[in-house]
Amino acid sequence: MAELPFANTEVWRELGFASSESSEKKKRKRGDSSRVESEEDDDKKKKKKEAARPNYFVSVPITNPEIKQAVQDVQKLVLEKDSRLSRALIPVDTLHITLLVAHLKTQEQVDLAASTLSALEAPLNALLAGRRLILPFCGVGHFKQEVVFVQITEGEHLNTLTLMAESVRKAFEESGIVSGDDKAFKPHLTFLKLSRAPKLRKQGVKKLDPALFSDFESRVFGDERVCRVDLCSMLKKKTEDGYYHREKSVTFTSLLFSDDEGGATCHSHEIHQ
Ligand code: AMP
Repeated sequence: MAELPFANTEVWRELGFASSESSEKKKRKRGDSSRVESEEDDDKKKKKKEAARPNYFVSVPITNPEIKQAVQDVQKLVLEKDSRLSRALIPVDTLHITLLVAHLKTQEQVDLAASTLSALEAPLNALLAGRRLILPFCGVGHFKQEVVFVQITEGEHLNTLTLMAESVRKAFEESGIVSGDDKAFKPHLTFLKLSRAPKLRKQGVKKLDPALFSDFESRVFGDERVCRVDLCSMLKKKTEDGYYHREKSVTFTSLLFSDDEGGATCHSHEIHQ
């Protein structure tokens, strides 16, 4: 039930999908019966779009408590500048890097996505070729002054991550699962997005002032050693550690908990207040 497209409006809103105003309300507002037909077309289009909203994603979780703490510190500083943004903040226990989003309509499709990810275990491990994939996070960027994220420092690791995302997309496509987002893959760690708080628009906050983040241009957030790629549900109840419900995970087994060469370690999820 929780997986039905319109089952949980609150969750959709929390995820940043603004709920659409009811068509009846709009018709009353416009007060023009000659427009009813085109409004019905609009409604159909909107419903189709809503029905195809992504409800699953494939991602790399952020497990390093140092990164979570650094993000939380920045979020706190942003709130000191503008307290209205609190609902737009991403809870640090859900931080992740999205590789792909998809709309999975049925349990069969979820199972198919899970087995597709499972089958990627060997190719993704082969991509790493025994090396550790460490993502260094530094500085803050934004998409259209609406989505704010921590940047990943340039380097070879970005190529590897991009290859991982491409493998996932290709395998999902070959299984008949279309990516729910046609944006170019630009890996990022989102910690604030305006779409999470639709009320802000009504309060006149349509764009974020870049000055809110200019202090963090060269802030170091820490390193994440990539240990896992997950297929997560956007809508199912979060797990006890505050992270998304995982349908399937691929782990980089040879690297787990082997910190013999020094550097970043894989961390289990911890609960942050
Ligand atoms: P996520 O980090 O996956 O929660 O994404 C946050 C938001 O950033 C989503 O609304 C994405 O559609 C948006 N987004 C992701 N990649 C891009 C991109 N390359 N350009 C602009 N927006 C993007």
